[in-house]
Amino acid sequence: MKIQYLGTAAAEGWSAVFCTCDACKKARALGGKNIRTRSQAVIDNAILLDFPPDTYLHVLRDNIPLEAIGSLFVTHSHQDHFYPTELLMRGEPYGHNPGAKVLTVYGNDKVEAAYKAALGLNDSPTLISQIQFKRVEPFEAVSVDGGYVVTPLAANHAKDEECLIYLIEKEGKRILYAHDSGNYPDETWEFLKGKPLDLVSLDCTNVEFPDGNYHMGIPDNRKAKERLAEEGCVGEDTLVVINHFSHNGKLMHDEIVEVVKEDGFLVSYDGMMVEI
Ligand SMILES: [Zn+2]
Ligand SMILES: [Zn+2]
Ligand SMILES: [Zn+2]
Repeated sequence: MKIQYLGTAAAEGWSAVFCTCDACKKARALGGKNIRTRSQAVIDNAILLDFPPDTYLHVLRDNIPLEAIGSLFVTHSHQDHFYPTELLMRGEPYGHNPGAKVLTVYGNDKVEAAYKAALGLNDSPTLISQIQFKRVEPFEAVSVDGGYVVTPLAANHAKDEECLIYLIEKEGKRILYAHDSGNYPDETWEFLKGKPLDLVSLDCTNVEFPDGNYHMGIPDNRKAKERLAEEGCVGEDTLVVINHFSHNGKLMHDEIVEVVKEDGFLVSYDGMMVEI
């Protein structure tokens, strides 16, 4: 599997939409890997993970064939992970794509409510035949086109929503995509136990500052990696990526790389491609 990181920031982006803090000014001046858009990734151009307001930018920048992707898994309803109004542009006359696959959007109840509210604004005669929604439940695996099995796992994020992280499996390879996770609940640890991962993508919203109950920072990432190793999920060959950074964490990309150089973490940046 090939995973491409399309957006690697937290909710506000980096530099943040309305922000003039030093970290945002510095990111703007330095550019490159310091410019981070809202959270999204794509696997083999077949499975899309989250649908932020920056999806259109990702399509332009990284040449993503959005019309050819049949599966979108949404972690939760926060706007940096799900901006469903953009889905209305899939139908005629906004999008001419007669051969396009039906796009199945998978998510929890709050994602479904946001999806339905957005679709309520639909005025396209064709959209409804090009898109559908399927509810997912934690720990209930879903098989999708291309031979992938995707299992939603429980996260520890918003108190008013059952936020999800996703385990994606294909031909013996496993990716755990875990953003806006906090420290995982017991049932998630129980599920992961004894399942070796080829790549794990950890939440690093707080950068150097610990959190655990909503997001993670590097101290939480270190503990998560240790526990994942204890449970038989992370071994010598597992790639451990840290991702989803907030400007409030202040450090530029190269500074984060420096802080985690002993940890063996791969620090994400927009456009980063990893093959396992
Ligand atoms: Zn987020
Ligand atoms: Zn800022
Ligand atoms: Zn969130």
